[in-house]
Formats: sequence, C-alpha cells, structure tokens
Amino acid sequence: MPSPLRFTPTPIAMAWKGPGLPHETVAVPQIHFHEGDALVEVEYATICGSDIHTTSGHRSAAPPLVLGHEQVGRVVAATPEAVLHDGTALAVGDRVVWTVTVSCGQCQMCSRGLPQKCQKILKYGHERIGRGWELNGGFATHVHVKAGSGITKVPEEIPAAILAPVSCATATAAAALRATTRHHSIAGATVLVSGAGMVGLSIIAMAVTAGAKVVVLDPAAERRAMALKFGAVLALDPLAGKLGDALDSANLAAPAAAFEASGAPAAVKSAIAVLGIGGIAVLVGSVSPGPEVGIDPEAIVRGLKSITGVHNYTADDLRTAVDFISAHWNTMPFADLVGPGYFLHELDKALEVAKTGADVRVGIRPEQATD
Ligand SMILES: [Zn+2]
Ligand SMILES: [Zn+2]
Repeated sequence: MPSPLRFTPTPIAMAWKGPGLPHETVAVPQIHFHEGDALVEVEYATICGSDIHTTSGHRSAAPPLVLGHEQVGRVVAATPEAVLHDGTALAVGDRVVWTVTVSCGQCQMCSRGLPQKCQKILKYGHERIGRGWELNGGFATHVHVKAGSGITKVPEEIPAAILAPVSCATATAAAALRATTRHHSIAGATVLVSGAGMVGLSIIAMAVTAGAKVVVLDPAAERRAMALKFGAVLALDPLAGKLGDALDSANLAAPAAAFEASGAPAAVKSAIAVLGIGGIAVLVGSVSPGPEVGIDPEAIVRGLKSITGVHNYTADDLRTAVDFISAHWNTMPFADLVGPGYFLHELDKALEVAKTGADVRVGIRPEQATD
C-alpha cells in the first residue's frame, strides 16, 4: 500500500454506529491514496431517502459507516492518474460531483455497460469504514474519491444545494428517461409519474423539457403543488379517483411512459395497467422488498408494452444530469426542493427532520474543520 498522506486541517467524518444510535465524529488523519484517487472537500451534501432507510434499520448495512452519497465539493488533492469521466486530468480546484458507485471497468457487468452492477462494486455512503477507505461518504468534511468513480465537473455559478442531489436523484432520473428513449420519443405524449419526491420531480422536469404532457400522482398535496410548478399538466391524489377517468376528462391519451418513483405496490400496478399501446413502465421506486404485483400478460403482448427496472445509473447518466441542471437550474424551481441546511455536527437532528418529509431534501454543510 502506498504511504499515507496527511492533510491539514484533519478531515472528519460522521460515523453511523447503528439504528437508534447517535453519530460519532471521527478524525481521519491519514489518507491512503491509490492511483487515480482524489480528495474532495465537501461543499454541501443532501440526505437521500436511502440514508433514512439505513438509519431506520430498513436497509442492511454494516456499521460503522459514513452515510451520504449526494454531495458536491472541490478537489483538494489528486493523484497524477486521477481523471474526469471524459478522460481529462482531474485538477486541484475542480468543483465536482461523482457517481454513487465505484466500478472496476473490466468485469462482465462493466463490459456490458452496467457499471452500477459491477462485480467489484463499492458505493459511497454504504461501505464499512476501514481498509484504507475511511472517508467514503458525503457526511464528512472530505470524501476520498476512488479511481473507478465517474467524476464530472460542475459550473461555479450553480448553488451547491442544487448540485448536491445530482449525484443520486437527478442522475437516477436521467437513467429512467434514457430507458424510455430506447423505445420511442415522449415528445407530445402523455407521461405518468407516480411519486413526486426528488427522483420523481427530476423526472417530471426532464419529461416536461422533452415535450411530454406530464401527469403526476402523489398523495401529498404539497408535492402535487410542486409537481405543477415543475410543469406537470395534472397532479392527482391517487386515492381520490380512477386515473383512467381523470385522463379522459382532461382529454389526455393513455401514457406512452409511466415512471414509478414511489415504490408503493398499488402505484406499480397502476403504472403498468394504465399504459397505452407501445407504452413502457419504468420502475424506479421499488428498492425494498414488497408484495408481488400481478400483470396481465395478454395486455402486455397485444399492447406492445414494456416493463423495465432502473437502479442507480452510469457515469454518462450523471453527465446528462449535470447538463440538465446546468441548463434549467434557474428556470425551474430546483432551489425550492432543499430546505435549510444543518451543520455536520447536527446530522442526527437533520436526519430526524428529513424523516418528516416536510422538505424534499435536507442539506448538510460541513463547518470549517479545525486542527
Ligand atoms: Zn440516494
Ligand atoms: Zn466491474
């Protein structure tokens, strides 16, 4: 192993010790760089739904670990081999986001274009602290960004709170949109989005921009109001009536694409059932075990319909997400999605606030580390 490097001030991370336990502050005085690695000082991080799943004990994880995988930061050190996703050299001072996954680039999954399922995969915010990779999550002053991460530069003028969610929610939304373009264009078509959280709202923004008439289902009135602000033509409470009837009375055709971002079994069922001829259901929200959902195979066959799953994303999707946010951050209400930021040492309080869902995202700002 190469000799460790020391940085001043000493990087600190918030170590999660298990469900119900408070975070502990951990100083990381030594960083073990390998070829292609870099150290990024975190400017802003946001709490993703999967962080809350973990702290609530709904997702298996081996503590201690550093949670957080939505963050933006500035490169403070880089090995000579460190590169951006486009192959150009990573430089100290670059403002960057990076993929949630670290991929080997050589295994069967990577070769098939599925780096998010790499056989040697590592994920930020998911790995046990240790083995020379302590700063491996966003709830820290710094992140040790490993070779095999897809790193993308981001514009200086975009507020950090808008950029942080790009490396999970927005990039996942870009992957979901890409899944439909294999089939047909959504321009001019009806598109259904169920679940108007961060991923759903990002899908709404992208589908509206692509020229779709977007119909949104969400039981929360404030999320429906936000969906309309992002350009949805209709936002409905799924419990309030039949979707088909609502589409008919609004003179909207059956959806060409239905994005399911809530994970609710009833929403999955209705996303598949409501599809028009040639339609595709893109399932994004079902990330934890749930009941089986029946399908009508004849309707799939005669209707030329598809059902696909999207989990995480590729470095190209992250690039697409950054390009999208760069073009639309000041014309669409992305700034309204992140509530007030908490300091790193207030992480437990911030997680409690995030659990209430009052804001789509809760932010974490690392205070100046002291030595
Ligand atoms: Zn996430
Ligand atoms: Zn691989």
